[in-house]
Amino acid sequence: MDDAIYKKVAKVLDTMPNGFSATESGVEIKLLKKIFTPEQAELFCNLRLTFETVEEIAQRTGRPLEGLKERLISMAKSGQLFMIKLGRTRYFKMLPWVFGIYEFQLGRLDRELAELNEEYRPVFGRQFFSATPQLMQVLPIEEQISEKEEPLPYEKVSSVIENGQSFLVNDCICKKEQDLLDKPCDRPLQVCLAIAPIPGIFDNSPLGRVISKSEAYELMKKTEEEGLVHLSGNVQYGPFYICNCCKCCCGVLRSINELGIPAAEVVNAHYYAEIDPDKCISCGLCLDERCQVGAIEEGEDAYRIIHDRCIGCGLCITTCPAEAVRLVHKGKEELVTPPATEEAWFEERGRKRGVDFSAYK
Ligand code: SF4
Ligand code: SF4
Ligand code: SF4
Repeated sequence: MDDAIYKKVAKVLDTMPNGFSATESGVEIKLLKKIFTPEQAELFCNLRLTFETVEEIAQRTGRPLEGLKERLISMAKSGQLFMIKLGRTRYFKMLPWVFGIYEFQLGRLDRELAELNEEYRPVFGRQFFSATPQLMQVLPIEEQISEKEEPLPYEKVSSVIENGQSFLVNDCICKKEQDLLDKPCDRPLQVCLAIAPIPGIFDNSPLGRVISKSEAYELMKKTEEEGLVHLSGNVQYGPFYICNCCKCCCGVLRSINELGIPAAEVVNAHYYAEIDPDKCISCGLCLDERCQVGAIEEGEDAYRIIHDRCIGCGLCITTCPAEAVRLVHKGKEELVTPPATEEAWFEERGRKRGVDFSAYK
């Protein structure tokens, strides 16, 4: 089969602020072939990153209206684009590779797709995390943030949840992928929380389980107990998800652990942990069972935080038997304010990557 249309999709995706780097092996083209038919790939290239109705897409692209809606709905169901329905009207938009098409393959993920993505991950990860702003920010365990540290609203799990009116919990695609690769994870699978500011928006979702706000809070509690890191969109207003991530499966945390990319390039962290050496009893629990990024080391008389690796998640604090750990807000010279909104994130990242994506706005 001719690869031209898939090379075109790859180029479009790499023109997005998120990026989609080329490899020498061409594995990214194999991934696209697995996900799109040539016709779907062609239609994908005609879409934009902003919502449009089917009539607007037909008018702008000169495509016949007949059958277009059905094709777009079918592509949305296959995780190739994003669709919302408000009242009786459906709106469609293009998705970047990550966060986007890859995560939306949850219902289609099989061993072949998992293997292709695993092969692509190192090349993609090195390119993806070489640009800022980072995709995700760390939300610490909220009870562990002292009011003295003056937390900002976007640093709090409760602010993100309180902004939502609809909640959907999905299986974690990273864990599902590792399971297909015979590396099962013993932590809970259904931990990816999607959040929307519109009531009832997830009611017809083909994937996941609609939950209430109080269940969303319970999910956060449970994932904290299980030792999962809360990661959310790196924006101040309106992050639409909270991922709950482990070191063995999460594509983001694995980039720190396995690719050796500095933590500060991978996620935006607003806090770091400190261990009081006078209180630490050197039990090792924080390092052995809680920290997901290897940010703790054994010292002569007490355990120590490796400052540059710590992402300030707070997981090491809740189980410390000596109450020796606390979270500290980063100083002005280290803190990075997230872009205000998703649109601002796209603009800033597009500028920093030097890509012109104006044709897709
Ligand atoms: S980013 Fe984390 S929670 Fe989200 S899908 Fe990956 S491992 Fe799961
Ligand atoms: S869990 Fe607490 S007491 Fe144990 S090593 Fe870590 S900091 Fe020290
Ligand atoms: S040391 Fe590890 S577990 Fe503790 S806050 Fe830092 S990243 Fe989280």
